[in-house]
Amino acid sequence: MNIDFGGKIALVTGASKGIGYDIALALAKGGAIKVYAVSRTLKDLEKLKDQNDKIEPVVCDLTDWDTTAKVIGDLGPVDLLVNNAGVSILQPFLDITPEVYSQIFDLNVKSVIQVSQIVAHKMIDKGSGGVIVNVSSMASTMSLKDHTCYCASKAALDSLTRSMAAELGSKNIRVNACNPTVTFTDMGRMAWGDPKRSAPVLSRIPIGRFAEVEDVTNVVLYLLSDKSAMLNGVTLPVDGGFTTV
Ligand code: NDP
Repeated sequence: MNIDFGGKIALVTGASKGIGYDIALALAKGGAIKVYAVSRTLKDLEKLKDQNDKIEPVVCDLTDWDTTAKVIGDLGPVDLLVNNAGVSILQPFLDITPEVYSQIFDLNVKSVIQVSQIVAHKMIDKGSGGVIVNVSSMASTMSLKDHTCYCASKAALDSLTRSMAAELGSKNIRVNACNPTVTFTDMGRMAWGDPKRSAPVLSRIPIGRFAEVEDVTNVVLYLLSDKSAMLNGVTLPVDGGFTTV
């Protein structure tokens, strides 16, 4: 299946590391004429730009509402948005603090609302519609030890995906989510690097392995492309069958 993003302008949040880095690079290699790569760390974004000159680094702490309004608002038109930036901080339920709750929900949910609002307005103004993909998680539909706030935030993101799809569909903007299993990025290693913790999860994946970053990127590219033109509001598992058993 050939997917060509020729002529498109993309914005990927959390593009300085892990899954977002790979998605941004794949879009640039896949024909996008510009890829806004958003994160807080310029030196990491510059490394990404060294890989492909279609990448345009955008430094922004997406949990800061006023800064995000200015920085993302000042960017040019966008055709494809990937809300990928996310954070996971482990706390047992009985120890959850308001600070950690806010850190997780401010990035994993609130910033998705804000960035999507800004970008959807740009898409509507341009008049040619667009596509939004939210990077959710298998955690949205289950409980995982010490992940209460993270699981709840990803459940909220799935719900947000459906609401956005329902409201934006008539404006020629499709919105879908993908829901990966464990993927060994910095976040994946932090949460699942200890085999004692990860083995019970792995044992429930019928195909017998965790996701590679590329597995997630390929699904995001599909959802961004015209090959998924009739998908709107889906939350697509990328979990080797974990959620079927
Ligand atoms: P990483 O921790 O490797 O990367 C997170 C990215 O988000 C970095 O580029 C980071 O850059 C950026 N980021 C973090 N905080 C902010 C902020 N406040 N403002 C702007 N950017 C920020 O995560 P992954 O690549 O593993 O995860 C990507 C997405 O995939 C997340 O939404 C995650 O929940 C989801 N996911 C991950 C899984 C996994 O096992 N890894 C499994 C399922 C879903 P910087 O620190 O420079 O700002």
